Amino acid sequence: MTMKIGILYICTGKYYSFWEDFYNSSEKYFLSGIEKKYFVFTDSTKIIKSHNVEIIHQDNLGWPFNTLYRYRMFLRIGGELKNFDYIIFLNANCKFIDYISLTDFFGLNKNLVACIHPGFFNKDKSEFTYEKRKKSKAFIENGYYYFPGGIMGGDANIFLNICKSLNYDIEYDLNNGIIAIWHDESYWNAHLNNNYQEIKDDLHILSPSYLYPEGWSIPFEKKVILRDKSKYIDIKGIKETHQK
Ligand code: UDP
Repeated sequence: MTMKIGILYICTGKYYSFWEDFYNSSEKYFLSGIEKKYFVFTDSTKIIKSHNVEIIHQDNLGWPFNTLYRYRMFLRIGGELKNFDYIIFLNANCKFIDYISLTDFFGLNKNLVACIHPGFFNKDKSEFTYEKRKKSKAFIENGYYYFPGGIMGGDANIFLNICKSLNYDIEYDLNNGIIAIWHDESYWNAHLNNNYQEIKDDLHILSPSYLYPEGWSIPFEKKVILRDKSKYIDIKGIKETHQK
């Protein structure tokens, strides 16, 4: 049986302009020779369906729901995603700039993938920006690492189950008038850190090489760069609208 990888990509509103570079760079550098299918959640009509690109119409939910509701978006196509070996989400402004193999990315005999946040690899745990309110489902008392929301995935069924659980936690918090400090990222961190002892042998942790912010200088080789959004799109207003 051949391996199949599902790539989850969200680009609502102005983010559609990152798609072409993401796709072309992924086709060139990411998991060469392995079957990849892209699932693009977008409200743009400019992105064209193709043999390996499926478009899932997604309304622009405003800030922060375009990102907070990512788990719910993925679950919309959970039935189809279950047929993949691995599924992975990357931020819209990611661009691959070096070759990445299956083992580089998903590890050996691992079923979850997360990355070390490029802004926190050298920081003391006391500086990690976890959700600190005890009444939030994203609360972390003592964590191990700070993980960015920009890369998340793993074995399709395992990752989808996590999406279900995080989606539940987000709804639970919303019903109590809470949105965790860093939205989807806080819930992802809570899952990984609060269950760390049980999942650590199955977790592949990528270095910040895989989410290297453009214009930064950190001691990692560059494999995936995170493009500086302000250079490419007018980001004014993106983080201002709260609508559900
Ligand atoms: N996103 C989107 N439209 C928006 C805002 C966010 O499609 O208006 C998606 C997109 O995939 C983006 C991700 O949500 O990469 C995370 O957004 P955010 O602005 O939080 O990125 P960060 O601040 O982490 O760069």
